[in-house]
Amino acid sequence: MSENNQKLDGFEGPGFLATSLDKAVGMARKNSIWPLPFATSCCGIEFMATMASTYDFGRFGSERLSFSPRQADLLMVMGTISKKMGPVLRQVYEQMAEPKWVIAVGACASTGGIFDTYSVLQGIDRIIPVDVYVPGCPPRPEQIIDGVLKIQELVQNESLRRRNSPEYQELLASYGIE
Ligand code: SF4
Repeated sequence: MSENNQKLDGFEGPGFLATSLDKAVGMARKNSIWPLPFATSCCGIEFMATMASTYDFGRFGSERLSFSPRQADLLMVMGTISKKMGPVLRQVYEQMAEPKWVIAVGACASTGGIFDTYSVLQGIDRIIPVDVYVPGCPPRPEQIIDGVLKIQELVQNESLRRRNSPEYQELLASYGIE
């Protein structure tokens, strides 16, 4: 059985499984992530390949892309983000409802990549919190899928109370996000 289809921990008997609410909700969320692709350049093309038939992102329950921030829970940032684009990216992040997660796909989104210049943001974590970084220039679709599997792990194991925790509030406050 693949990791993606792992059974829930709990007390099991013939025809029933007793588990905690956290774990049941985590499993439902993990297998129905709706990504918002924020793609500006070459890494976005790799993402298109990840969505297509050979790699088939739908296998992970994420075939439904959302171009509305209000109906997405995973922000996938792919490509070079210029400083001018920064406020737009931040607005998209702020419009997403909790709980939400963020992946920086590729060297540019993670660190600015080869564009160490005055006009390029040196990593999106300068303006929004990031959960998973995918290395590479560009990363292959397998790496993008690996990043999403890491997000699934976080989603499955996240406490339902995390978003109200003082640590999370502190993290948002450090970005000036209310
Ligand atoms: S990391 Fe490389 S492939 Fe990806 S957007 Fe930057 S330059 Fe393009």
